[in-house]
Amino acid sequence: MQLIDTHTHLYVEAFDEDQSLVIERALKVGVQHFFIPAIDSSYIDRMYALENAYPNQIHLMAGLHPTHVKKNYKEELTLIDTQLKKRKFCAIGEIGMDLYWDKKFLKEQQLAFSQQIKLAKEHKLPIVIHCREAFDEVFEVLEQHSGDDLYGIFHCFTGALSEAKRAIDLNFKLGIGGVVTFKNGRIDQFLNKIPMESIVLETDAPYLSPTPHRGNRNESSYIHLIMKKVAECYAVSDDIIAKITTENALSVFKNQKIKF
Ligand SMILES: [Zn+2]
Repeated sequence: MQLIDTHTHLYVEAFDEDQSLVIERALKVGVQHFFIPAIDSSYIDRMYALENAYPNQIHLMAGLHPTHVKKNYKEELTLIDTQLKKRKFCAIGEIGMDLYWDKKFLKEQQLAFSQQIKLAKEHKLPIVIHCREAFDEVFEVLEQHSGDDLYGIFHCFTGALSEAKRAIDLNFKLGIGGVVTFKNGRIDQFLNKIPMESIVLETDAPYLSPTPHRGNRNESSYIHLIMKKVAECYAVSDDIIAKITTENALSVFKNQKIKF
């Protein structure tokens, strides 16, 4: 079985003690490629070290996470621009808006999001969106930039069916993660109304562990639990979900050389 974890933060402190074991376990259950969203410049060295250790499996994104948009966001964006000119990335992510934690930098979040979409277009890259309690604000920005050159993944999609359709109409796939296994996760109720061609799998490790690991550290090998639940929702086999979500992920990250 071939699986792709389209969203995993394997470089953060939570994996300092056993990063290589975590990756081994994922490889064993068939996760052969890991797409790694950025947070801010403080993590860049850790991301490069991870890529050096697993150059064929690790695919790095560049970007500034919305909860890390602060007063200095312009400097962060300049740094991203410089990196993009120096080397290849698989996407711009994770970017977007998060009004759950803090609304203080709403304006800056919107500006940073918009500017990073421009960078993605300039470099012909997909974007990976983080959206929390900010659907209207995120769609407002996306609709200003919509077009064939705007595409990517709505990571950890937890919206309603109408929002799913809106995202799909704007060229986005929906990242389905641990929330689909939660009792109150909602998305399992209508997932089968979303075309299978529009979803990809992700863990968002170390966050949002699927059941029965909820509350504990998440890791990429748990993606098989997410796959199983998704297969149940669509009433198809695990193999079909693995095959289709892998193809979907490859169609988004088409600029990457990916071998299985
Ligand atoms: Zn993330």
